[in-house]
Amino acid sequence: MKNIINSFSTISTKDQKKIDFHPTKIISGRGVYVTDEFGKELLDGMAGLWCVNIGYGREELAEEAKKQMIDLPYYHTFYGSSLDSTEKLSEELQNLTNHEFSKFFFCNSGSESVDSAIKIAHYIWKTKGKEDKKWIISRENSYHGSTIAATAIGGMNKMKCQLGNHISNIAHINHPFDHSLVGKQEEEDFARKRALKLEEKILELGPENVAAFIAEPFQGAGGVMIPHKIYWEIIPEICKKYNILLIADEVIGGFGRLGCWFSYMHFGFQPDIFTFAKGLTSGYLPMGGVAVHKNIVNTLTNLNAQVFHHGFTYSGHPVCASVALKNIEILKKDKIIDHVKSISPYFKDKLKEAIETFPIIGSISSEGLVAGIQLLWDDDSMDLGSLCREEAYNQGIIMRASGNRLILSPPLIITKNEIDTLCQRIHETLKVVTSKIFSDKKLQLRK
Ligand SMILES: *Cc1c(COP(=O)(O)O)cnc(C)c1O
Repeated sequence: MKNIINSFSTISTKDQKKIDFHPTKIISGRGVYVTDEFGKELLDGMAGLWCVNIGYGREELAEEAKKQMIDLPYYHTFYGSSLDSTEKLSEELQNLTNHEFSKFFFCNSGSESVDSAIKIAHYIWKTKGKEDKKWIISRENSYHGSTIAATAIGGMNKMKCQLGNHISNIAHINHPFDHSLVGKQEEEDFARKRALKLEEKILELGPENVAAFIAEPFQGAGGVMIPHKIYWEIIPEICKKYNILLIADEVIGGFGRLGCWFSYMHFGFQPDIFTFAKGLTSGYLPMGGVAVHKNIVNTLTNLNAQVFHHGFTYSGHPVCASVALKNIEILKKDKIIDHVKSISPYFKDKLKEAIETFPIIGSISSEGLVAGIQLLWDDDSMDLGSLCREEAYNQGIIMRASGNRLILSPPLIITKNEIDTLCQRIHETLKVVTSKIFSDKKLQLRK
């Protein structure tokens, strides 16, 4: 670890004591596997951090980057400048959104895409002469990134506590998920009630003061929480009714995770703005962006909008854009999105089979190639999620825990055989963890 400040560790010289993570140094990767510094091969059930959609070791991406670096390693996109690969990427994104979205802003990460989307929302309302529309409504337990604005918008309490209240005009509503209702009759009713919380909040703040509602179509880092589909039928109607922009955070859901190009398509709604990053380049290079709906673009054009004073030195970076284009080409050529759609029932069934007999397991939520597994326990002295995560590593898989939920998001190229291996190792993990806790604790299961 030397002198890197690791994410989610302390900034002290005694780091190791406070980190409950297995300290890892990953050296190489091929397909769905990575290898650590001791030569241990691990099936990466997280695709890095939800991003290596096409898997590790695709040389075409390296070759594309090399070619672009030789042709033109860098030029900016300020003051009306444009770049060939960045333009092509915009055209491609327009195609992938069925020409519903017509302008794209590029940046370097998901957090910057969220910050940029908020600035775009404010710019839109200012242009329309509605400067009071400033409030951003978000949800508890959401994750939108780590810059100051993205942290404030997000709903992760531990992160927010360290930030303090630096940013005003941000409100949160409850999130639309209760693990104990998954698959039950009451699930729909619950999601409906949670959707109506948005209306309540808008009325409390005054619709004339609210700029946008931002949400992940399904919550990723918060624990893979997939709302009942009724939620995304109601939310867009409320936004329309009160003239609020709907921003979908597609940073995890974009580029195939649910078996569609973007996860709003899976849920069947249309945002006004959406953010993307992660799967855009399959993590091979850092790049993110914001898409703006053509209706908004047309309105701004008609209003003769001012210049949008915003941009990063590396916005639309030509090497990142070339790699993103190649990544999209591979997703198409190898029919990876169709593969996700067709393999996802197998993933869900196998996972269920592997874990459902363990008493520490509650409900499973899964769509496409993500899953969230609820852990049940009633002993605050024990972090069952971390225990599972650490044992998973011993068993040769990478699986994360978010509070009391285990989460999975493997590379989208995963095969049936690899799913079998993943699920068999999850089974072994839970076997070891269960016997460990039942042997030295009087564990009380939570309902
Ligand atoms: C990861 C993530 C972000 C932040 O992206 P970074 O590239 O880490 O800045 C934002 N939103 C969602 C939904 C994410 O999962």
